[in-house]
Amino acid sequence: MDALKRRIADIDHEIAAACERSGRERSDVTVVAVTKQVSAERAEEVISEGIFHLGENRSEGLLGKQQQIKDPVTWHFIGNVQSRKVKDFINQIDYLHALDRISLAKEIQKRADRTINCFVQVNVSGEESKSGLSSEEVGPFLDEVAAFDKIRVVGLMTMAPFTEDTEFIRYVFRSLRELRDDMAAKQLDHAPCSLLSMGMSNDYSIAIEEGATHVRIGTALVGTESEG
Ligand SMILES: *Cc1c(COP(=O)(O)O)cnc(C)c1O
Repeated sequence: MDALKRRIADIDHEIAAACERSGRERSDVTVVAVTKQVSAERAEEVISEGIFHLGENRSEGLLGKQQQIKDPVTWHFIGNVQSRKVKDFINQIDYLHALDRISLAKEIQKRADRTINCFVQVNVSGEESKSGLSSEEVGPFLDEVAAFDKIRVVGLMTMAPFTEDTEFIRYVFRSLRELRDDMAAKQLDHAPCSLLSMGMSNDYSIAIEEGATHVRIGTALVGTESEG
């Protein structure tokens, strides 16, 4: 088996085990292959293994891959967004995982020609270096974006803190799930907020145990261009 097939088989196995441990259905978890650090060719190999959700964090990377890849991909934009870049890519994506401020919502409202599925990014652990709303800000933010008909809040997204402390990582993921449950309970038309984007190469198993519906896996899945 080649290296890519092996990595995908290992990830499938891990995901199935995490679902089993937490009594979840495998079909409730979507793998977003983060291809930001690899070529369009590598992305096409990933697609040929049956993974049709790709994540990019820059408009250049996204548009470059879209030019080359003709398969029916579901495109996820996962990076911090500069407002001035919104017009370049907002109508080319299926999901935005990084809605974290009203000024960005305004720019999307202005530039989008259809409703954009957005995850609101939350900085659960309050690390200075991370973008995202604090947990307390999310409720008022959802009320505020009701005014923007181009924005549909499909769920919440977070990045785990940089730490070896898996119990703390678990606590962060669990906190996001609880916040998601609270927001979904509001039953807002513009913000069903049923999804949870959390978990990357090093922590996706924990994220799935804690309820992730979308795991964003880069290096562990796509590898690095030099190593194959
Ligand atoms: C790069 C990136 C990922 C993937 O990271 P890996 O550690 O390579 O799995 C996931 N989410 C976001 C927001 C990223 O920028």
